[in-house]
Amino acid sequence: MKNIAIIGSGAGGLITSSKLSKDLSKEIKNGEVTITLFDKKREQEFQPGYLEVAFRGTDPSKIRRPVKKLVSPGVKMVYDNVEKVDLANRYVKTEGSSEKINFDYVIISTGSSPDYDQIDGLKQANMDFHTDAYNASLIYNRISSIKSGKIVVGIGGLPYKCPPSPNESAFMLHEHFRKKGIRDDVEIIYVTPFTRIYSAESINEVIEPMYERRDIESITAFNTDTVDAEKKEITSLEGETLKYDYLFLTPPHKPAGFLKGSDMSDEDGWVKVDKKDLHITTYDNGFAIGDTTNIPISKAGVEAHLEGIVVANNIVGEITGTGQKYKFTGRTQCSMETGFHKATFVVGTYDRPVEKIEPSTMNYMEKKVMEKIYWGSLHGHYEWLFKYHFKKDYFEE
Ligand SMILES: Cc1cc2nc3c(=O)[nH]c(=O)nc-3n(C[C@H](O)[C@H](O)[C@H](O)COP(=O)(O)OP(=O)(O)OC[C@H]3O[C@@H](n4cnc5c(N)ncnc54)[C@H](O)[C@@H]3O)c2cc1C
Repeated sequence: MKNIAIIGSGAGGLITSSKLSKDLSKEIKNGEVTITLFDKKREQEFQPGYLEVAFRGTDPSKIRRPVKKLVSPGVKMVYDNVEKVDLANRYVKTEGSSEKINFDYVIISTGSSPDYDQIDGLKQANMDFHTDAYNASLIYNRISSIKSGKIVVGIGGLPYKCPPSPNESAFMLHEHFRKKGIRDDVEIIYVTPFTRIYSAESINEVIEPMYERRDIESITAFNTDTVDAEKKEITSLEGETLKYDYLFLTPPHKPAGFLKGSDMSDEDGWVKVDKKDLHITTYDNGFAIGDTTNIPISKAGVEAHLEGIVVANNIVGEITGTGQKYKFTGRTQCSMETGFHKATFVVGTYDRPVEKIEPSTMNYMEKKVMEKIYWGSLHGHYEWLFKYHFKKDYFEE
């Protein structure tokens, strides 16, 4: 009997559970394998859709689904907050129960979320589109009433999920105010701790001229230190002070609370894994995938998905005795919408630097296709398409 515990039913946890339940369906039926998926939430949101909610007014309900509709047959769902994963004694403990749920394999996929405690005053002053769809909708309410003024957007701190998303917010604000015919009355300023507008040079070469053409001012090497909500001022570690009327910064992110101080994590709580097979470096039958790992690549859904496929395959190989071993290639693929139905992609691997891809309508359409197939992809319905699309980056044998 083998018990598999998966913590977190987001982009990474769901595809991993779907793949395991499909490939181990015989063993699950025979009572030789159990899969238990834990999440404190009963609904999932399509997080890339937060941009549409914040800057185009999409109704938040359009990007939500009940978790029960996303869970594959053969997977037991536990709705509770996980407060401890004990790797040495192989059990999970949740907040609402005194029971210790044993496992033979555990996969941590608890994602990341905004951490307002890192920057004094940010919470009082800011509105963000990384917390959830409801908070994103508040931004749309706010921008709908803006007639003029100075908007500051950008990166409030590192790390955060979806590296291009702050740039997308600048482009989408530009589009919003252009369409309303008041772009000349609204100043858009983009701040970033990096030394260029986008950290990867190849993408920076593509978007820097677009910032100039669209009159979006940029301030680089700006590390937000404190925010004064009353004076409407941000001060950087470099000593610069910037005035704003409206602030939509992407806050620095943190991992799930139970990971901080745990022996599987680094000092900030990110889980220490082998970047190829994703096993937790302190424990062979424990794995972590997605935003919660300490791998220094983008925190994005594509990575969570491809990592989940690698981990699921390797667990299936061990349980069924085929011994199959796959490795994650480090493939990233984040879309960056540049407004007016165009987008570029941030694409790279551990071995290949980020490519230079010009914005196009075709890329925008690809992004839109992903929106359509997202929920089905968590069930594993589109692995044939992902295999075709990612080719040798899908996994390394
Ligand atoms: C604005 C925005 C735009 C984005 N655009 C893109 C994009 O274009 N492309 C892309 O690839 N990615 C994009 N992303 C990023 C992507 O959504 C995340 O990287 C992805 O969801 C990470 O998957 P995950 O499984 O690691 O975490 P998540 O999907 O966040 O899931 C984590 C789950 O763990 C649960 N959890 C956490 N702690 C506990 C606990 N203690 N107990 C129980 N459950 C717990 C949470 O409730 C959550 O359901 C975007 C994100 C945002 C915010």
